[in-house]
Amino acid sequence: MSHPRLGWLGGTFDPIHCGHLDVARAARAALKLETVHLVPTGVPPHRDAPFASARHRLAMAKLAAATHDWLQVSDIELTAPGPSYTMDTLDSLARLGVDLRAVYVITGADAFAEIMTWRDAPQLLDRCPFVVVSRPGYPAPALRRVLPALAGKMCDVGECELASQPSIFLVDAPTAPITSTEVRACVSDGRPLAGLVPATVADYIEKNDLYQGVA
Ligand code: ATP
Ligand code: MG
Repeated sequence: MSHPRLGWLGGTFDPIHCGHLDVARAARAALKLETVHLVPTGVPPHRDAPFASARHRLAMAKLAAATHDWLQVSDIELTAPGPSYTMDTLDSLARLGVDLRAVYVITGADAFAEIMTWRDAPQLLDRCPFVVVSRPGYPAPALRRVLPALAGKMCDVGECELASQPSIFLVDAPTAPITSTEVRACVSDGRPLAGLVPATVADYIEKNDLYQGVA
């Protein structure tokens, strides 16, 4: 029997916002994923240190995950020492007995455009399927032109069901035009967060005085 499909959405989540939840929802619907795991990264290899601590980013991800029963949170990249590399995380999952063919790594199209800068990039793509969701300004289908060397592995949902090799599924679904950068700027300017983050996350940011004076 094949394993239930699991989605794996990593991010700095500084803070988690409604756009992230749209990505999770779109990937889940397109690939029939049973669960989507939100995975806050520890020290991100590709960018500056987050503004909020790992503890706060994890707490906000848990509040956001509580809005849907198919959402879960994994702290695996926060408890591992050193930078979070996806290959190391996949190794850890494999050691825990997870079948990596059933792990669908989800990214936005802006993040996937940089995939060749990720450590172990080509091998990663052979290890498990990827799901790339459009982000406002970054349509997923355009990745065929942006990354021509990978275009042969890319397919629209439904096309690759019988492929024996892990594939890159392009999901051209709408997601809210929100960035964590904009959310932080809103907090710093004293503008309301309604509609940008779940209400419980907005309360958490306020109670913990996060993102004051970051912009
Ligand atoms: P920042 O502004 O700090 O870079 P961000 O909004 O890009 O934050 P990340 O934590 O960097 O959030 O993103 C995690 C993942 O979610 C990435 O793969 C990113 O492409 C994707 N993502 C974030 N927001 C959206 C969105 N609105 N639509 C589609 N994908 C998104
Ligand atoms: Mg980003």
